[in-house]
Amino acid sequence: MINKFTKEGENMNIIEIIDKKRLGKELSNDEIKYFIEGYTKNKIPDYQAAAFIMAVCINGMNEDEIISMTTAMADSGEKLDLSDISDLVVDKHSTGGVGDKVTLIVSPIIASLGIPVAKMSGRGLGITGGTVDKLQSIPAYRTDISIDEFKNNVKEIGISLISQTMDLAPADKKIYALRDSIAAVNSIPLIASSIMSKKIAAGTNKIVIDITYGSGAFMKNKLQAKRLAKCMKEIWKGKDRQICCVISKMDQPLGYSIGNILEVIEAVKALHGEMKEDVQEIVFEICIQMLKLAGRKETRSQLEKEIWNAINSGKAFDKFVQMAQRQGADVSYLYDLDKFEKAPIIIPVISDKSGYVKELSAEKIGKVSINLGAGRKNKEEEIDKRVGIILCKKIGDRVENGECLAYIHANNSEILDSQIDAIKSAYKIVSDVVNSEKVVDEII
Ligand code: URA
Repeated sequence: MINKFTKEGENMNIIEIIDKKRLGKELSNDEIKYFIEGYTKNKIPDYQAAAFIMAVCINGMNEDEIISMTTAMADSGEKLDLSDISDLVVDKHSTGGVGDKVTLIVSPIIASLGIPVAKMSGRGLGITGGTVDKLQSIPAYRTDISIDEFKNNVKEIGISLISQTMDLAPADKKIYALRDSIAAVNSIPLIASSIMSKKIAAGTNKIVIDITYGSGAFMKNKLQAKRLAKCMKEIWKGKDRQICCVISKMDQPLGYSIGNILEVIEAVKALHGEMKEDVQEIVFEICIQMLKLAGRKETRSQLEKEIWNAINSGKAFDKFVQMAQRQGADVSYLYDLDKFEKAPIIIPVISDKSGYVKELSAEKIGKVSINLGAGRKNKEEEIDKRVGIILCKKIGDRVENGECLAYIHANNSEILDSQIDAIKSAYKIVSDVVNSEKVVDEII
C-alpha cells in the first residue's frame, strides 16, 4: 500500500519505512512524521503500525529520531496553553509500576499547598496500572471532561486529573493502546516519546518524572532507567522548561493493594495519613521535587512538615473530594470506603513456609492482576474494577507457616488455583532476617 497523504510523503512508502527500521537504519524526520501523520489519520492500518512499532522496539532510535518522533506526536493534535492559569502549574508522571497509586495521593497534596496541578493520565499499560482506570473506579467520576472544563477546574480549585483527550497527542493515544496489545511497551524511545509528546501538547513546563525500574517496571535495571532519564531531559531542553527525574525501584509492588478500586481505597487512606513506608517515601520525594520546581526554597524538613500538615489537617483529602465532585463523582464513596463494590470472591493465600520475605516479584503479581481482570490483555478488553490483590506481607516482613501472604479479590473461581500458586511463587521466603529496601534511588 502506498500512501501519499503528506507533501513530504509524496515519494514515501510505509513498507520501505518499516523495512528501514527493521534493518536498524536511521529514519529521517520526514519519514517519522509520515508514519505518525498516516497512523493518526487512519491512513496506515494497525498491522503496518504494529510492524513499525515492533521494529522501533527491537532496533531502537537515536536521539534525533526520538526528538522527531516526540515532536510529530505532539504536533498530531491540538496543543494546550496553560500559561493563562499560572506559571506555577506543575505536573508529575510515572513510567509505570505495579500498585503505583502515587498520582492519586501526590496531586491533591500539592494542590492543597497552593500549587496548581493539571494532569492528563493514561490507562493501564502492560502489567502496570493506569491512573485513568483508577479514577474511573470512583462512581461517576468523569475523566473525559472538555479542555475548557479542565482548565477552569485548575483555575478555580487548583486541580484536575483527566484522561488524555483524543485532541491532544492523538498519535500517542493510538500508539499507546497498540503497544499494549503487541508487547511493545518496554522501549526507551517509545516510552520517552509517549510521555513527552503528551506533556508538550498539554502545555506542561515543569514536570517531575518518576522513572521506575525493576521487575514490575518497563525499565528492568538502573542503567536503563538512567538512559531513559537522560533521553527525557534531552527532549525537554528548551526555554522555560524544567524537569526532575526521580529514579525509583519497582521490584516489589508499591504499597499493599493492586487493582483499581483497591488502589483508590489505599490512596484515600494515604490522604488520611495511613501509608505504607514505601508509599510514604516516594510520595514525599515527589511532592518535595514538585514543590521545588514550583519555586519553593524551604529546606527539605520544612517542606516535609508542610506536606504532613496538608495531610493531617484534612486539606489534601478535601482537595481530592473537591476535584472528584467537580468531575461528577459520587463522593459519598470517598467518605465511606465500604460503599465501594467488592469482588464476589475474596480468598487468602496461605504461606507454607516460615521465615522472612526476601523477594516479592512485582512482575508476577502484576501478571496475576491482569489474569484476574484488573488490566487488559488487548486494547479493547473491559477491566473489572473490583478485582486485584491485597498484600499482607512485603519484603523484610516475618512470615509464619499458615499465615496469610495476600488476599485475592476475584470474579472467577476457575482460575483461582493457578493464581494462588502464582502469588506463592512471587514470594521468596528465607530463614535469615531481611531488611526492607528504600524505594527512591536517585534524583537526576
Ligand atoms: N506512560 C506513558 O504515558 N507512556 C509510556 O509509554 C509508558 C508510561
